[in-house]
Amino acid sequence: PSGDDCESEHQRVRVCVRRRPLFPHERRAGEFDVLSRAGNDAIVVHDCRMRPDCRNLLINHHSFTFDRVFDEEATTDEVYSAEVLPLVRRAAAGSVAATVLMYGQTGSGKTFTMAGLHSRLCDDLFASLSPADEVTATLTELGVGGARDLLRGGDVCQVLADPATGTVEPLPCAEVRVDGATGLRALFEYGASLRETAATGVHDASSRSHAVFRLHVQRAGVPGGSLTLVDLAGSEQRIDADSHSSERTRESAAINASLLALKDSVASLNGGGEFRSAAGGRHPLTLLLRPSFERSSEAGRQGSGTVIIATVSPASKDTEHSLNTLRHAAAM
Ligand code: ADP
Ligand code: MG
Repeated sequence: PSGDDCESEHQRVRVCVRRRPLFPHERRAGEFDVLSRAGNDAIVVHDCRMRPDCRNLLINHHSFTFDRVFDEEATTDEVYSAEVLPLVRRAAAGSVAATVLMYGQTGSGKTFTMAGLHSRLCDDLFASLSPADEVTATLTELGVGGARDLLRGGDVCQVLADPATGTVEPLPCAEVRVDGATGLRALFEYGASLRETAATGVHDASSRSHAVFRLHVQRAGVPGGSLTLVDLAGSEQRIDADSHSSERTRESAAINASLLALKDSVASLNGGGEFRSAAGGRHPLTLLLRPSFERSSEAGRQGSGTVIIATVSPASKDTEHSLNTLRHAAAM
């Protein structure tokens, strides 16, 4: 499917993979490339392990099929044109809630890809809008400490639970009016710098929190559209039984739970069900994203409103994490 109008009603979420190149410094350190692409839609992980007797190398080949696989030669332009531009156009036209999710291990290229998509979509989003149309933006960072409104100086905007009704709702974040492509580009850069600043803390905050950039488009006479761009926390979280830092362990468990909740919700949507009815539907991350998915579910006949880009590292040391990322992505 082209990602445009010809998709079947059931395929509401596209799942793609982008692999980054093996870096020269990794090669120098003895790492080798364990990934290969098979056609446009399959990727194979060559899982190499030394046999216990150290005399033979055992290689297991694991193959995964997706809507599309982007090899290391693929540029961000190609990823953008094939997967994101159709969503940008639909969001700008109104009525459609479009979502782009970056999922993968820390260091696999989520932020690299997202930054490239940001800079490319600015002109296209505004191309069909008139000065009377309104675009607003929110930027929320969701970590273990709760949700933070990055465009309002990192204020905490907690996701509240109402014990009486069992409902949990995110508090609205500050909406910033964006007056054109240049302003939007500046806002994306500002948002990225805020996350980088946060990442100089004790642990790498950007790998341990989700960043949700949401743009609302309101044009005269048309229901609003939205475009939500999500840079998810690293999928490599481990729960280390021997960890001396119980805070860190709790944090990892929380991130794992949020990613699993999201996966369940997306898989439910992809199976023709409702996003909100999935088991993970009450998690802060799924709550924050719910408006996007509910809308894309209603817009089912117009095709997919969501693309997940799973990023993987080809380095042999990352084999386990790449397998994990691909297994989860393939189950969405
Ligand atoms: P993540 O956000 O998933 O932790 P990053 O986006 O920060 O990962 O990428 C890690 C490093 O790899 C960065 O130095 C980035 O520039 C580089 N990188 C990622 N993807 C690519 C790619 N497709 N081509 C070239 N370099 C890449
Ligand atoms: Mg990152």
